[in-house]
Amino acid sequence: MADTEREAFEKAMNDSRFFPRELDFSRTKSPSGRDECENSHLQSNWEGWQARAALASRPAEVGDQIPRESNDALIALARYWKLNGDWMTCKGCRRSLIASRDGEELAHGDGCKYWGQQHPWAQLRKLITRRPAPAGAAQ
Ligand SMILES: [Zn+2]
Repeated sequence: MADTEREAFEKAMNDSRFFPRELDFSRTKSPSGRDECENSHLQSNWEGWQARAALASRPAEVGDQIPRESNDALIALARYWKLNGDWMTCKGCRRSLIASRDGEELAHGDGCKYWGQQHPWAQLRKLITRRPAPAGAAQ
């Protein structure tokens, strides 16, 4: 665990104190040889802090399931775009944007009724990716 995590922990613990005296974060070797806080209450808080930090720092990844709340949005996305291999094709003008040009604007055809629709790849990514909750957020 990074030292910055340890510093953040000690600061948070001291900030939550009612008394001005700073907490004693002295460490000692536990029977198993790990450095642990002499104060067992602080050690227990530190272990919880590290577990939460590890959870929050996991990279964003496609989770076990597509979020249920994405269903309606996927249906809406499919009203405008057709996934065709690595292309997203506008159902209005049949122009396409290849996945490797994700982020670029599609030049819709003249008079395309879906001219306001952009960034289909970003929309799709958002709908199928679960992001971990940031540290401190309610579960
Ligand atoms: Zn179009």
